Order: sequence, then C-alpha cells, then structure tokens
Amino acid sequence: MMTIFIVDASVFIYGYRIGEGEMVTVPGVAEELKDAKSTTLFEQAKSAGMRVEPAERRYIDEVVKMARRTGDMDVLSETDIHLLAKALQYMGKDACIITDDYAIQNAASRLGIQVKPIVQHKIMDVLIWKKRCIGCGRYFAQGEICPVCGSKLKRTRRRE
Ligand SMILES: [Zn+2]
Repeated sequence: MMTIFIVDASVFIYGYRIGEGEMVTVPGVAEELKDAKSTTLFEQAKSAGMRVEPAERRYIDEVVKMARRTGDMDVLSETDIHLLAKALQYMGKDACIITDDYAIQNAASRLGIQVKPIVQHKIMDVLIWKKRCIGCGRYFAQGEICPVCGSKLKRTRRRE
C-alpha cells in the first residue's frame, strides 16, 4: 500500500524531501506560503501529482469536537484543523501527517493519527544579525562601540 503523506506548509518552507508515496494537502496551506522558494516547491509538488483537497465537513467536525474537549482549539489554526481532518479521512490507510508544528503533532496523537515530525535545525541554519567591530573584527550581540578596541561596530550577518 502506498503511504499517503498529508503535508503542512513547513514541508515547503524547509524544502523537506518526502519519500515514496502520495502527497496530499489542503488549500489553506498554499496561503501560508509567502516566499518564492516555498511557493515554487509547492507548485513542483503539484506538478508531480500532489493533490490539494478541501477537508470534508464530517471530519472537520470530529477534529473540532476533540479539540474543544482537550483545549487544543486555542492553538490550532483553521488550516491545522483541516489538515487533521484530511488525515482522519485517510485513517485506516497507511497515512501520516508531516509537520514541524507541535500543536498539530499533539492533536494528531490524540486522534490516533500517525505523525512524522520535521526536526528543525534552527541553530545550525539560521543567519543571525550581529555587530562586528570594524577595527578588530570581533562579533558582539549589541552596542555601538567595540569594548575591546574602541572602534565602531557595524551590523553584519553571521552564520551561527
Ligand atoms: Zn574591536
């Protein structure tokens, strides 16, 4: 049986590679993609056969009922609920949600839905703005003047 991957926006934002299987998502996910890279990846996935299916009412109702009971309603967006509803619809098949979102992961486990979490490597990959001394080249988190040599600090980006 082909695995069905229900994917959220983080898959496209991080450029996460899905293994063999069918990809399914909901229309709200496309609206969460703001940059050229992730929208391009979304379009490529569609060309490769990803289905963009609206969630069905009866499954949405089921997710909302659970989320109201557990308090998850406060942390789930409408798109999150639709993704969970889509996963419920495919339950019984080999289906799982792929997401980096803890709220979705928690709600999914309560509903008995399989989750494949995307692990974020923020510390490795994110560029952080720092200040660098134009005199001695040391990096500082803040300030205008280098506390070591007294030269001016300039804003720069540094890979952490
Ligand atoms: Zn300095």
